[in-house]
Amino acid sequence: MIERIASPKKTREIIEKNQFYFKKNFGQNFLIDSNILEDIVESASITEDDFVLEVGPGIGSLTQVLAEHAKHVVCVEIDNHLIPILTETLQDYSNIEIMHGDILKININQLITEKNDDKPIKVVANLPYYITTPIIMDLLENKRKVSSITVMVQKEVAERMQAAPKTKDYGALTVAVQYYCNTEINKIVPPSCFMPQPKVASAVITLHVAQKPNIEVADEKLFFHIVKCAFGQRRKTLLNCLFNQGGFSFSKEDIVDILQECGLDEKIRGEALSLQDFGNLCNVIHAKL
Ligand code: SAM
Repeated sequence: MIERIASPKKTREIIEKNQFYFKKNFGQNFLIDSNILEDIVESASITEDDFVLEVGPGIGSLTQVLAEHAKHVVCVEIDNHLIPILTETLQDYSNIEIMHGDILKININQLITEKNDDKPIKVVANLPYYITTPIIMDLLENKRKVSSITVMVQKEVAERMQAAPKTKDYGALTVAVQYYCNTEINKIVPPSCFMPQPKVASAVITLHVAQKPNIEVADEKLFFHIVKCAFGQRRKTLLNCLFNQGGFSFSKEDIVDILQECGLDEKIRGEALSLQDFGNLCNVIHAKL
C-alpha cells in the first residue's frame, strides 16, 4: 500500500517541503487521521463502479483513499499553490483528475455529462465552512445528477440539516435537505484530527438524494422562493415575510386567507412550519397565481 498522506508526520513533511502556508479564508484544515478517511469512504459506500467528485482536495489526503475505492475521482481545488503539490502527492494514481477552480463557479452538470456520460455521481468532501451551504443548496436545488453527498462539516451545520421545526437550527438549509434527501450523521470528529485544528467539532453526514422528493409540490421554484422568504427574517411572522418579500400581488387579507386554507395561524413564523406545511402553502399559493 502507498504511504498515507493523512498522518501528522507526512502532512508536516509535505507542507514544509513545499513551503505551504495554510489559508484561513479557504477553510484549510487538512485531515491527519487516516481512520476518519476510511469512515468517510465507508459512509459514502464508495465502490469500484463509482465516479466521485471531491470538493477541495487540499494535499490529497482524502483523494488518495477515494481513488483506492472508486473507479474515477475528479477533484476541484481553488488554491493554485496546491495544484503542483497534488500532482506530486497523487502521482501514483491513474484514476484521479485534478482540476484547478472554484467549485461554486464550475458547471457541475457539464462536468457530469462530459466526464461520466451524464450518469449520477457521488460527491465527497471535507468542506470548508464558508461554502457548505451554497454548495449543498446548489447541488440540490439545481438538480445536479448526484446520488449522494457525503461531507465533513461543522457538527452544528450537520445538526442543522436534521433539525426539527421550532428549533433554532431549523432553516432554509434544513428544508432543502429534508425535501430532497434522507440524512445520516455517521461520525463526530474532534478538532485533533485536523491540521491546523479548527475551534469546533465536525461531523460526517451523508445525504442520500431521493429519486423523488420527499413531498409533492406544484412548482419547486415557488416552493424554494417561499422557504427562503419565510426564513429571510426569522423574527417576523410568515404573513409579513410573504407580504413584504414574497413579490406576490396578494393583499395582506389574501395571505391571511391562504394561511387559513393551509390550517396555519396568521401569527405563525416560518420556523414553525414542517416540510409538509411548506409544501401545502406552496400548492395553495400556486393555485391562486
Ligand atoms: N480534502 C482535504 C482534507 O480533507 O485534508 C482538504 C480539506 S480543507 C477543509 C478544504 C479544501 O477546500 C482546501 O484545500 C481549500 O483550499 C479548498 N477550497 C476552499 N474553497 C474552495 C472552492 N470554492 N472550490 C474548491 N476548493 C475550495
